[in-house]
This record gives sequence, structure tokens and C-alpha cells, in this order.
Amino acid sequence: MAKNFKNKYHDEERESPKAIKQEKRASNIPRKKTISAKGKTLTYKPGMTVSEVASELGISNAEIMKRLMGLGVMTSINQSIDRDTIELIAIDLGFSIQDEVITDLTRFDEMTFEDKEEDLVKRPPIVTVMGHVDHGKTTLLDTIRNTRVTSTEAGGITQHIGAYQVNVHGEKITFIDTPGHAAFTEMRARGAQVTDIVIVVVAADDGVMPQTKEAIDHAKSANVPIIIAINKIDRPQANPEHVKTELANIGLIPEDWGGDIPFVEISALKGINIEELLEVVLLVSEIKELKANPNRLATGTVVEAKLDRGRGVVATVIVSNGTLKVGDNIVIGNTYGKIRTMSDGTKKRLTSALPSQPVEITGLMDIPSAGDMFVSIEDERQARQIAEERTSRQREGELQKQKRASLKSLFKEAEAEEKELVLIIRGDTHGTIEALKSSLEKIDIEGFHVNVIRASVGAITETDVHLAVASNAIILGFNVRPIAMVRDMAKQEGIEIRLYNVIYKAIEDIERALMGMLEPKFEEIVTGEAEVRNIFKSSKVGTIAGCYVTNGLIQRNSNVRLLREGIVVYEGKLASLKRFKDDVREVRQGYECGLSIENFDDIKEGDIIEGFLDKEVKE
Ligand code: GDP
Repeated sequence: MAKNFKNKYHDEERESPKAIKQEKRASNIPRKKTISAKGKTLTYKPGMTVSEVASELGISNAEIMKRLMGLGVMTSINQSIDRDTIELIAIDLGFSIQDEVITDLTRFDEMTFEDKEEDLVKRPPIVTVMGHVDHGKTTLLDTIRNTRVTSTEAGGITQHIGAYQVNVHGEKITFIDTPGHAAFTEMRARGAQVTDIVIVVVAADDGVMPQTKEAIDHAKSANVPIIIAINKIDRPQANPEHVKTELANIGLIPEDWGGDIPFVEISALKGINIEELLEVVLLVSEIKELKANPNRLATGTVVEAKLDRGRGVVATVIVSNGTLKVGDNIVIGNTYGKIRTMSDGTKKRLTSALPSQPVEITGLMDIPSAGDMFVSIEDERQARQIAEERTSRQREGELQKQKRASLKSLFKEAEAEEKELVLIIRGDTHGTIEALKSSLEKIDIEGFHVNVIRASVGAITETDVHLAVASNAIILGFNVRPIAMVRDMAKQEGIEIRLYNVIYKAIEDIERALMGMLEPKFEEIVTGEAEVRNIFKSSKVGTIAGCYVTNGLIQRNSNVRLLREGIVVYEGKLASLKRFKDDVREVRQGYECGLSIENFDDIKEGDIIEGFLDKEVKE
């Protein structure tokens, strides 16, 4: 096509009022620079409309329509076209095409979908319960769960997933099942505002306490409406009027005193006025006019996540908009996945989740953190791309953080005074990691200090080793293991990996290492690894695992550890080790063997058996 002709066409289009309007609208949408100056590149975004593509390619709407027709595609300028078609047209015009990498979820959300008012429907409120310790938060959440999740729903709640939904006169309410403001603030710190309404529980026999005030402050700063539940009114010492006065004094005036804060007097334990409280929640939510569009790809937030021995990564998410479906590709924090299963904590299996609905999902590649937001994305490849980009950005951040820490320690070492032990912690649950991290950081030995630069859930990975190399760190695994490849890599790089299953032992060891500085010794020697390929059940010896030794050797007298997806399922001794029918002392890499484990039968295909010997540790 002649250049002049194209420009003329383009200019004409620009002058029409419609085109100007369109351009204005387009310029309101934040987007990446799409056409590079030298090599012409079109950055593809899912859902691009015909006119958007035309403007990116610098051609008129009429021109692109003509080209589309030439390809046999009949469409209108406001319809979106698929990537393959766009690519054909782009290549024809001398453009190369690349997928946009979007790392900011909120932006992605804004760009891809703009909900029209008529698509929005009412969604249930999401409620967090806060208040002072022992004022009855847990009891209230339990009472609501136990009385409201009816037994008709597939046997009621069988499992705590971190959030639940109840029915009140045909309306739903979602409760975040972690009382207290820690979770609330953690999520807010990550930019996630999940909660629509806060119930502040105040015990009628105790009154306003420090955490009551904190809870109120958090709710206020998040601009979330507050409902006061005056609890324990069944107690003889209860004095609800006193509580009201106290709260009024700090600016929360009860509705029946002419203020705007709903107060409900309840007994969480005896189940008094719970129904009234729930009705007030619905009233407040009515005023907030909470809405969402169920007919779009879902977005939402992680409430909690963990690694489950049998099911892999399990995360509870609350859908904030759209409908989340089994099979959806989602980007979630730094990871991604395709949703394999969905459940609400009852035995019932779900295939989709609507706005405000909490569901437990499986199928993620790695463990996200509470407060991480997710979006569903049509294209699996793009989901992976975004997640990878984020991971590498995070890694860069960590490396930089560590560089500073190293400098500090260098400086200190130069002063020959303080030494720093840099640690990376991997564990099987957030709880244990936090416990380990905080105890280690508290170790108080003069002249030394511990710096934990990463603490996360899951098996020890290559990334951990990279980070350890970069920052001269030691890796601690708590109830998790590296796979052989990672262990070899660590060995090559001279990175020490220490594995524990008892917290105090880890702490003791580190203390000892700090005192004996600076050459901590391995406690155990891993001799080799075998992969379980077949399972035979024998009435005499129990489960026999047909294995293939993938590296090192497995010895008859060694200790063994059974790993499933990097998590230690069992630790014990071998009961037998055979090659064909013969008992043997050891089996080396590349050979098959049959083995059984003392007092343990739950071996599955795909499990890894790790053989190790204990070695004396020099004081
Ligand atoms: P949390 O720390 O706020 O989660 O408080 P809990 O729910 O654990 O309750 C603390 C204690 O108060 C427990 O012993 C409960 O049984 C008790 N409790 C909670 N609600 C009531 C109530 O309505 N009446 C009475 N009498 N005791 C209650």
C-alpha cells in the first residue's frame, strides 16, 4: 500500500468527531508504548478491538475492515478480534507482534474489562470480625458457621478454609474466618480491600480495651462501616450500657442514641440475637449497594494458602468480580495455575464461584500469600508469562535487598565486631516458618546476628540456591526437602542446606553454629534417592515399593525419608531391601529394587525415598 494513501486516509479519520472521541477514550486507558521506533512492533492485548488494532498499526478503520474482509472475517470496528487474525494483518504491514506483559493486576483489570452499569448485580457483603482478645470473636464465627451452614448442604462444613458463606432469609453473607485484625491489615498492606463490613465484638463484662480501639481504627482507616456486637450479655456482670457510653466517648454513637453506628447486644455462646446481628449486616450492606458483574472473567483475593501433602498447593480465594470456574487460568501473586478443583469447605464439589464467594482452589504452581490478588486470563501462556515476569522482579528486589545487607555485614566484619548469619527458610506451613523465623531472629549472642532474607512455604528450589549464592546464605528446610537436582546444585555452589523437623533443634543448631562460628557441620549425609515406580501389597510384609535408584545409593541400614512433592511424609528405617528375590546391603544408582519401610505402608507411586545416615556433629 502506498504510504501517502495510508496517511491521507489516516488523517481523514482523525478529523471526524467520532474518531476524536474514540482517540480520547483510548488515551484514557493506560497502556504500554506499543509501536517501537525502529522495528515496528504491535503489542497484543487480549480483547483488542478492531479499531484499537487499526490505531496501533497506524491505519484507518476502513482500511482494517477491508483487510479483515479480505481474510474472510466479517466484524464491526468495536468487536475484538483474535490474536491470529491480528498477527496476519500486522505481519502484512511489516509489524512483528508480541504479547503484552502486564505486571500490575489492577491495571490489567481496568484495561480488559470495564463493567457497564447494566451488567452489575448485587453481591453479598464480606465481613471481618475484630475486637479485643477473649471478647468472643472465635465463638461468634463458630456459632454463625455451626447454626447457619445447614446440614442439607452436603453434611455442612467439614473443613475450615478461611472463609465461609451463610444464608440469611435467602441472602448470602461471607465471613472471613480468621478473627482479629492481623489478617485484615496484612491484606490491606498488600493493597487488597476484601472486607466490606467490620463487626467489632466488645464483651459486655469487660468493655472497650486496647484491641477494641485498634480494631476501630483499622476499620475507620479502611473506610469500612462498623457494626458493634456487644457480646456476653448472658453474663451476670454484663453492662451493655457502660459499653455504649465508652464507645460513644470515642466517637461511635449508637443508632438508638441518635448516632449512626448499629449496635447489637448478643451472646455468641448462647446464640442470643445472632439472627438480629446478621440482619443488621444485610441492612448495612444494602446501603453500600455492593455490586459486581458475574458475566466476566474473575478477579479476587487470596485469603490463605498452604501446601497440602496430598493435593499440592491449596488456596482459599474470595471472588471480587466475575465468575471463577474450574479450568480457568489465573495469575495469582507471583504464580499462576489452571484451576483443577474448587470447594467451599463442605463435601460438595463446585464448578464455579460467584462474586463474594469464598472457595478453596487447587492447581496453582506455587503458594501465593494472603492478600495476593488474582485475575483469570483466557490465555494460559500469558498467565505464565506474567507470573514469570513478576517472579523475576521479586528476585531482583530480593537480591538488591541482600546486597545492602552484605555491605552492612562487610562493614561490620571489617570492624571485626559483629558477624551476620544470612538465612533462607523453607517450610511446610506459614505458621512454622513464622515461628522459626521469629525465634531465629531473636537469637542473642554477642557479636552475631541472624538475618532471614527469605522465608516461604514449599520445597527448596533452584531459586533459593541462587539467592543463597548471591547472598552467602545458608538454607534451612523445615519439613521440606530439596530434590536431588537442587541438592547437587547446592553442593556444586558450596551452599549449605540444613534440614530439620523440630524447631528447637534448628534454633539450637544455629546458636551453636554462631558460637562455634563459622563452619557449621552437616548433621546427616544423604546417601541417595530412589523413585517409587510400582506398589505391591503383601499380606505378610505390607506395602512393598518397586523403586528405581535415581542417584547415589540406598543402603539397607540407612534411615529413610518419604517425600511427596517435596514434603516429608514419613521418616523412619527400611524394613527390607531386595534385588529380585535376594536381600541386599545396598542398591546403586541406575538399578531397580524392592523395599519396604518399617511401620509405614502409605507409599504411593511417584514418591521419592531418600536414604540418609546420621553423622556425629562436633561441638
Ligand atoms: P476471641 O479471643 O475474641 O476469639 O474469644 P473467644 O471466642 O475465644 O472467647 C473467649 C472466651 O469467652 C471463651 O471462653 C468463650 O467461651 C467465652 N465467650 C464467648 N462468647 C461468650 C458469650 O456470649 N457468653 C459467655 N458467657 N461467654 C462467652
